Amino acid sequence: MSELALFGGKPAVTYVGTGKNDGTDMFKWPIITKEDEDAVLEVLRRGGMSGTDVTKEFEKEFAAWVGAKYALGTCNGTAALHAAMFGVGLGRGDEVICPSITYWASCTAATTLGATVVFADIDPMTLCLDPKKLESKITDRTKAIIVVHYMGYPADMDPIMEIAKKHNIKVIEDVSHAQGGLYKGRKVGTIGDVAAMSLMAGKSFAIGEGGILHTDNLEIYERAIAFGTYERFGADIQTEYLKPLTGLPLGGYKHRMHQLSSACGRVQLKYYDERCAEIRKAMNYFWDLLEGVPGVRAHRVDESTGSDMSGWYAAHGLYVPEELEGLSVTRFCEALRAEGFPTSPGVNAALHTHAVFNTADVYNDGKPTRIAFADRDVREMDKDLEVSEIIGSRTYSIPWFKKFDKEVIEQYANAVKKVCANYKELLADDPGNPPRLGGWHFFNHSAKKAN
Ligand SMILES: *Cc1c(COP(=O)(O)O)cnc(C)c1O
Repeated sequence: MSELALFGGKPAVTYVGTGKNDGTDMFKWPIITKEDEDAVLEVLRRGGMSGTDVTKEFEKEFAAWVGAKYALGTCNGTAALHAAMFGVGLGRGDEVICPSITYWASCTAATTLGATVVFADIDPMTLCLDPKKLESKITDRTKAIIVVHYMGYPADMDPIMEIAKKHNIKVIEDVSHAQGGLYKGRKVGTIGDVAAMSLMAGKSFAIGEGGILHTDNLEIYERAIAFGTYERFGADIQTEYLKPLTGLPLGGYKHRMHQLSSACGRVQLKYYDERCAEIRKAMNYFWDLLEGVPGVRAHRVDESTGSDMSGWYAAHGLYVPEELEGLSVTRFCEALRAEGFPTSPGVNAALHTHAVFNTADVYNDGKPTRIAFADRDVREMDKDLEVSEIIGSRTYSIPWFKKFDKEVIEQYANAVKKVCANYKELLADDPGNPPRLGGWHFFNHSAKKAN
């Protein structure tokens, strides 16, 4: 009989979790203790949910932690990104460059400002914006670049900042996947002009629905306040041209953070670095065990450069089908799942292929929204996003280990080793990959019921 569980062998993984979010389970996240519960209940009992006192404390602590002058809490990461885009001055007819492989919120709100999203390709090893593919995308209209530290991997900021400075373009860092991470010894989010991120319950920095932006630039900060935080858009605004406008939100949006989230955030922040260090130890151990195994490569940064994978959000692996005689990642994942290793092929689907960025006329402009105010058709018919288009067939999700429990991690690594060693048995019935792998929002954030 075959060793592979898919053909009746014994599954490699026997781990059964506690299902509790108290830090005893390998996967359950975020870790919630009595301290989180007390902080949230305090706000709830005094009816402080829509206030700003707790949020302002959270902002202060977050800014100090990351090393930024100003921070602004928001109701979610989408709002933080939207406010950051307005903050840097993005408006009608401007172009903003964004990688095609990311969650839609990195760039989609730019269309509400009348801006045009121009997609750039990613690097197949880092899965982040490829600086080599960036400069050719810049035109006279380019106002900003959105950089995503994708799945915890710090984007290569040095060359990106150099290009941005040369062309006088603002850089927005989307830190939703990499809160607290390092790029060559510097905190991600503090390198560009402004950082914005999600802190929703599925992220590594998880506080419930919520987001935050931070910057050292007063004008960007005050513009972000002006856009969607009217209750704080008042007498203490220092930017001259904003002063006569205070009191109403310029964007017509309401971005205030819910204080059950900021209360939780203040507690989570205290333990975040320590918990992420444990995640990195666990994830690095997993990948160390798989060094040199044909067919698989780690998606991780070399820590000796002073960079790290922060909380290793949405851990993925790189898949090299050529080393397994072309075995599809679809079949590879099927065999892994049979071993008790939950996984699915692909990453976020390439945004430039979605109808919202091609045909949709959302605001009745009589032309596609994405190019409603553009001076040219930027839709990627030039096919120069080839990595983004094929990366789904070369990636697969990895269990996100939260605890450095060697024996358990070894079970999961053994599952991968076993499937790679026996790949020939999988070739015969390989259905191949479907035309598109990965989804628009495929990460499953719905928490399982705690025991
Ligand atoms: C989750 C996420 C967002 C959006 O944040 P929400 O809090 O869900 O609004 C933005 N960008 C990226 C890369 C994300 O993963």
